[in-house]
Amino acid sequence: MPAPDPVAKTAAPLEPFLVDAHCHLDLYPNFLEMIQESETHAIRTLAVTTTPLAFQRNQELTAPTQYVRAALGIHPQVIGERAAEISIFEKLLPLTRYVGEVGLDASPRFYSSFQTQERIFQRVLEASAEAGGKILSVHSVRAASRVLKLVEKFFPEDRGTVILHWFTGAQSEAKRAVELGCFFSVNSAMLDRDTGKQLIRIIPPDRVLSETDGPFLLKGKRPVRPLDVCDVICAIATVLNEPTIDVRNRIAQNFRRLLKGNSNRPFEV
Ligand code: MN
Repeated sequence: MPAPDPVAKTAAPLEPFLVDAHCHLDLYPNFLEMIQESETHAIRTLAVTTTPLAFQRNQELTAPTQYVRAALGIHPQVIGERAAEISIFEKLLPLTRYVGEVGLDASPRFYSSFQTQERIFQRVLEASAEAGGKILSVHSVRAASRVLKLVEKFFPEDRGTVILHWFTGAQSEAKRAVELGCFFSVNSAMLDRDTGKQLIRIIPPDRVLSETDGPFLLKGKRPVRPLDVCDVICAIATVLNEPTIDVRNRIAQNFRRLLKGNSNRPFEV
């Protein structure tokens, strides 16, 4: 039996913290330093992966950390070549509570694999629903409606939680996602555009998380890193005309609720 968590028993106020709900730490040349940076700054970081084989190393390196967790992914953009790896995904799924990056991408470059992507994403959703309690970071480029239909059909709200990462769907689709219980992890690219700003205004504040999607987004000429979620939080605060500290605290609260944790422990694995 695990030892009782002493923190959970105290009535001390919960600390706010930074959240990077979607970052590809393993795609930086200095992967280990990136993990350490999240640890040093206590940034709750979800290290998403693009293939099940990449997950294994991420899991090894992040398991001993306090604040970084690896997510098991099979990215829609690699499904064209790697659909067969769904069997490895299914084998590894019991090892983690976190799944991502998964989803659908209907942009022209990846459209030829779209049917296969749908088949694989359905299996990801079914396997995750069957296991229960999983948290999924989901890609939905040009495919928001289709993603939501599959989530509705194969991933009931009581079986886990979907975080829509870098959501670019229509407002009607965002509303549908809210009805389905989804969270939204918001990054700097979304906040650069009016459509993204409009979305932030209509999504319920208690469903919003922050992400960097590093190293794919840039800050000036360098790739963003988890600490840059500070910029995302400031930009959300500007759009909502709220104090930055309130947005930061609310995102921490949302993340805690998402994990159904009630203590200062960052991740309930
Ligand atoms: Mn990504």
